[in-house]
Amino acid sequence: MWSRITELASDLRAVRRDLHRHPELAFKERRTAAVVAGLLREWGIEVHECIGRTGVVGVIANGNSDRAIGLRADMDALPIREASGTAHASVHEGIAHSCGHDGHTAMLLCAARYLAETRRFEGRVHLLFQPAEEGQGGARAMVEDGLFERFPCAEIYALHNWPSLPAGTIATRPGPIMAAADRFEITVRGAGGHAGQPHLASDVILCAAQIVTGAHTLVARRIDPAANAVLSITRVEGGYTHNVLPSEVRLTGTVRTFDPLVQDRLEAALRDWGEQAAKAGGCSATMEYVRYYPATINDASCAQHALEAARALFGGALLADAPAATSEDFAFMLQQVPGAYIWLGSRVGDHSPPLHDPAFDFNDDVLPAGAALLATLAERRLGI
Ligand SMILES: [Zn+2]
Ligand SMILES: [Zn+2]
Repeated sequence: MWSRITELASDLRAVRRDLHRHPELAFKERRTAAVVAGLLREWGIEVHECIGRTGVVGVIANGNSDRAIGLRADMDALPIREASGTAHASVHEGIAHSCGHDGHTAMLLCAARYLAETRRFEGRVHLLFQPAEEGQGGARAMVEDGLFERFPCAEIYALHNWPSLPAGTIATRPGPIMAAADRFEITVRGAGGHAGQPHLASDVILCAAQIVTGAHTLVARRIDPAANAVLSITRVEGGYTHNVLPSEVRLTGTVRTFDPLVQDRLEAALRDWGEQAAKAGGCSATMEYVRYYPATINDASCAQHALEAARALFGGALLADAPAATSEDFAFMLQQVPGAYIWLGSRVGDHSPPLHDPAFDFNDDVLPAGAALLATLAERRLGI
């Protein structure tokens, strides 16, 4: 397998760089989807387009079994001005593949071409090219579009390049691997007034400052010390000038958790604290709280299958000791079908720009390893 995958990967490197030069934002991946669909057709693979708006599904069937495995790649880019300095840098101002989804798409294409050529499996491989992973829930859009009714899968797998791990290292874990991501906006309202007459106003800025300070005690004091959670306040907005007490301040932030019970508790504690702290200062507070991505929870046996496949291929794999507090919308697919989300180490030298850094570029050297792992998972889980 390895020599053929390496040959195919060198062809796919050009495709990866072409996708990198032409990044597209969430649900606008029309060119990318057309490139994917065109190549799959060229390789004789059945193609279904416009699933979850710009998603593409390829189907490779072999033999008579109905058993199917899903392999997923994301296709969207980020609203970032690229500063990688590479010859294949983005030609679209303010849009860049700074999370490596161009690489994920190329790795799944490479695995697809290999599987279509060799067919050493019995059943179906569903190639899931999803749109809009970056905050817009493209995986949910595909699920709501009937993805798993039309293309049922017994198990699903996805890879993400991971620059903090050495290139080629495969790591995953059973249970939570990526956090649930929630965003909140607290609006503090009160009576505005003259800065020289604070006794005639209610100071919403002081109230907001107390809400910010107290909010940072909630993870420490309201959550079981054995559980994990992050609460960050990322924007404070309010006021006009030095001599006016405003009547409104808005606080924006995010909560990251791995357990729905912890998530419930932290949301309730934050709401309660905001309301009580505002009331104590003679103001009122309302909170809008949106749970936009659930936690990404790996099925224990699928995580084990992924580690075993990596050990069989590369002689080693890493059982990750902790989840990451970033989030991932593959979580929506994992709520429907058991599977595993897998990190593929992609560090370049001693230091690589992290994901979402304007200087980031996908490390092409890991393309064969990622493609080989996806193909191996399909072959092992659809073993003849
Ligand atoms: Zn990202
Ligand atoms: Zn990503």
